[in-house]
Amino acid sequence: MGLFTFLTKRFIAGETKEEAFRAVRRLNGMGMRTTLDILGENVTSEKMARDLANLYINLVEAIDRDKLTANVSVKLTQMGLDVSDDFCYRNVSRIIEAAGASNMFVRIDMEGSDYTERTLQLVHRWAGKYDNVGTVIQAMLHRSEADIGELIRRGIRIRLCKGAYKEPPSVAIQRKDDVNANYIALMKILLDSGIFHSIATHDDAMISATRDYATIKGIPKSNFEFQMLYGINRSGQTELVKDGYGMLIYVPFGTHWFPYYYRRLRERKENILFIAKHLLRD
Ligand SMILES: Cc1cc2nc3c(=O)[nH]c(=O)nc-3n(C[C@H](O)[C@H](O)[C@H](O)COP(=O)(O)OP(=O)(O)OC[C@H]3O[C@@H](n4cnc5c(N)ncnc54)[C@H](O)[C@@H]3O)c2cc1C
Repeated sequence: MGLFTFLTKRFIAGETKEEAFRAVRRLNGMGMRTTLDILGENVTSEKMARDLANLYINLVEAIDRDKLTANVSVKLTQMGLDVSDDFCYRNVSRIIEAAGASNMFVRIDMEGSDYTERTLQLVHRWAGKYDNVGTVIQAMLHRSEADIGELIRRGIRIRLCKGAYKEPPSVAIQRKDDVNANYIALMKILLDSGIFHSIATHDDAMISATRDYATIKGIPKSNFEFQMLYGINRSGQTELVKDGYGMLIYVPFGTHWFPYYYRRLRERKENILFIAKHLLRD
């Protein structure tokens, strides 16, 4: 096995669309929905950002043609946010329109806190025009409760996650227990909203808290879904499906895998030890 394959295959479905579609078919066969992410971020050339949007449009069309249970997740810095907000707005609008033609949802991923405000402003603009767009809120940020209030007021679907970027104390909660407590508080707001939101976590404690809250409040399983990343907590994924919950898997693919891969390693020291052990053994 090559070093590339060895390093990436745990977290990344492959380098090509065909490999990603194979993973999607397998997950769909297990009763799971999927969202596809073409890996890449911080693109500063307009041409490259336009080409990447075209790749997403081809992807949307192929998902529809192959009748996969899948939608797409998009990072705005891959779509030209560093060029300008208006350029990015126009570029991503093309993807949202193509997806809308197939009744497909587009999720705008959330990146580091330098981009939060601009991402949300753009999401508000898209949501004013299209009904197939939603975004992500990170429980670690101090601002998230207020942001959730505004998104819910506008009827926008939210994926709640803890947050994958290293952030300073001025913008983010630093202690893990405090992030978890905020995650649970925000989860309750989402479940109470009556809008279909997504609870994205591999953390058994967050999952139990969500299940318990929904049961106590009599919120049907069909009113929300859980989400996990490709290759993480696979037993949890199948267990939630078995228990009748909606489960969506985030399936990243492509050649620009390093930043995503690095975030997955950083989240868990065992991952780094695992890689180190295998590299030493080889
Ligand atoms: C579907 C989905 C979409 C996401 N989208 C975004 C986004 O747009 N923006 C953003 O900032 N973040 C995003 N994230 C990442 C998220 O913010 C967290 O960084 C990540 O999910 C880890 O947090 P956790 O909730 O799993 O809890 P943690 O407390 O980090 O982990 C709980 C347990 O899950 C397992 N686990 C977690 N991570 C790993 C790992 N890398 N390898 C192996 N086991 C692991 C371990 O058993 C760990 O003990 C997304 C996550 C998911 C599931």
